[in-house]
Amino acid sequence: MRSQPLYQTEGDLLALECHPLDTRPGAVLLDQCIVFPGGGGQLADRAAIRWHHGEAAIVAVTPDQRGWWHRFASEDEPDGPVQVSVDAGFRHLMCELHTLAHIANSVVFREFDGALLTGAQLSDDETFRVDFDLRGSEAGRLRELAGPINDIIRADLPIRTFLMDWDKANAVPGLFRSKAVSPPRQDDGNVRIVEIGDLDRQGCGGTHLASTGMARPVRVLKVDNKGRQNRRVKIGF
Ligand SMILES: [Zn+2]
Repeated sequence: MRSQPLYQTEGDLLALECHPLDTRPGAVLLDQCIVFPGGGGQLADRAAIRWHHGEAAIVAVTPDQRGWWHRFASEDEPDGPVQVSVDAGFRHLMCELHTLAHIANSVVFREFDGALLTGAQLSDDETFRVDFDLRGSEAGRLRELAGPINDIIRADLPIRTFLMDWDKANAVPGLFRSKAVSPPRQDDGNVRIVEIGDLDRQGCGGTHLASTGMARPVRVLKVDNKGRQNRRVKIGF
C-alpha cells in the first residue's frame, strides 16, 4: 500500500533519486513523493524530473494504490533511475503563507466567537486570502488582525504534525475548522493534524514552517464583503 508522502513526513527533503515502479510516455510511478500536488488552497510545488539524457518539468502528481504518478511536460518514457527536485524558494513561500493562514484562522476563531473558515487561497505574489463566515459589521475588527497574528509570530511557537483517527478527530469540537472542506481522510483511516504550540490544532495535509517565528510579520491588505455572511481578508507583507 502507498505510504504517507515524504512531503508530509520529511518536509525538508527537496531532492530524491529512485527507480520507478512503472512508466508510461510522459509519466513515472514512484513509491515515494516529495512533490506537494496542490490542494486545500496551497499551490502545487514547482518541481522537475531528470533521467539519463532527459529532463522535464513536473505538471501533475496523482496517487494510485502503489504510489504516486509523476506526470511531466514531455512524451518521453524514462528507463533507469530518475531524480526529482523541488524548487526550494517556492516551497518555502508556500510553507510560510500556509502557516500564516492557520494562524489567521485560529485568531479569528478565538476572537470572533468560533467563526469558521469558508475558504483559503495562497498566491505566488506573496499574499494569501482567507474567507470567514462573518457578518458585515465585523469588517472593521478584521482589519486589526495583523496585531495578534504578529504576536504569535514573535512568540515563535513550535509546529508539529501527527496522525489521529479520522472519526475521533471529527468528534473533537474545533479540530475541523473549515466550513467548506474536511481535511483529507487517509487510506488508513487517519487524518493528519497540524499543531501550533498550544494555540491551535487543525486537520491538514499541506506543508508548514517548523515554528511561527520563521514567518515574516504581516499586514492586512484588504477586507472585502463576499456575500452577506462572508468576509474575505487579504494578507501580505
Ligand atoms: Zn495546513
